[in-house]
Amino acid sequence: MATLIDGRQIASDIREEVKQAVLAHTSSGKRAPYLAVVLVGDDPASSSYVRGKAKASAEVGIESDTMTFPDTISEAELLEIVARLNDDDNVDGILVQLPLPAHIDDTRVINAISPDKDVDCFHPASVGRLSIGLDGFAPATPAGIVQLLERSDIETSGAHCVIIGRSNIVGKPLANLMLRKGIDATVTVCHSRTRDLAGIARQADILVAAIGRAHFVTAEMVKPGATVIDVGINRVDDSTRDRGYRLVGDVDFDAVEPIAGHITPVPGGVGPMTIAVLLQNTLKAATM
Ligand code: NDP
Repeated sequence: MATLIDGRQIASDIREEVKQAVLAHTSSGKRAPYLAVVLVGDDPASSSYVRGKAKASAEVGIESDTMTFPDTISEAELLEIVARLNDDDNVDGILVQLPLPAHIDDTRVINAISPDKDVDCFHPASVGRLSIGLDGFAPATPAGIVQLLERSDIETSGAHCVIIGRSNIVGKPLANLMLRKGIDATVTVCHSRTRDLAGIARQADILVAAIGRAHFVTAEMVKPGATVIDVGINRVDDSTRDRGYRLVGDVDFDAVEPIAGHITPVPGGVGPMTIAVLLQNTLKAATM
């Protein structure tokens, strides 16, 4: 039976820490940290993420404003808005909710955000700083995973961390973080062309699944006692639920849990950490 890594509790601890730090910041006479959120269009998932970020910010004393634009906005107009936010000294962090409509180039908009305000850590300068080990903003989901490990006393030094998935938002930045001095894992990154994926996964002391396929990681892929971190969020049909589906991870939890040493559930594992790290980054943007 694995020990459950409680992402909700750990994220709540982090939010409380940020709240106290914001209080100390404002008590010294400084204005509250300010996060500008840009939302284009009315995609329900994006709107819901943005509402969650605004609510979590307010709870810790971070001010935020969600600027909503119709999906007919042009790329040039959006770039102008980002430029204005860059120039505004009262704005500490800028977050452009992705994905953007097809006629707007995500990369061009992300690259327009000032690296000093890039709380999502998507700008190439932020990614570069991360990869050569300089201080900077933390990429939300990967940094959330590292904090889950640290706060659960999982040994990372010398551990073999196998990451399944090489995306720019999870797999690659997580590999960079796990390689950092002080974390010191030995990292293997797998993807859809990897040969003998199960054999490599079975070597992992820390196995991270960031694939986007329900129940991909089976018991045969897990070394007894390994720490299993499930990043996946997948909808599977479930007629017993009012909404007709439920959320599951990339790990076959019921099969893997008896073998693993530690495991994150879905929901309630990695998910809650993402917003917690965003709050840490916004505080950092205001205080650096
Ligand atoms: P992407 O689709 O960008 O990347 C998926 C990765 O999985 C790719 O590198 C792909 O390989 C790899 N992959 C796909 N199929 C296989 C396979 N059969 N064998 C081996 N590797 C495979 O996804 P993201 O990284 O954006 O997200 C992954 C999951 O994490 C999703 O479920 C997403 O919803 C969730 N997520 C959760 C977050 C949270 O806060 N909890 C935050 C971000 C994401 P290749 O590159 O070769 O195509």
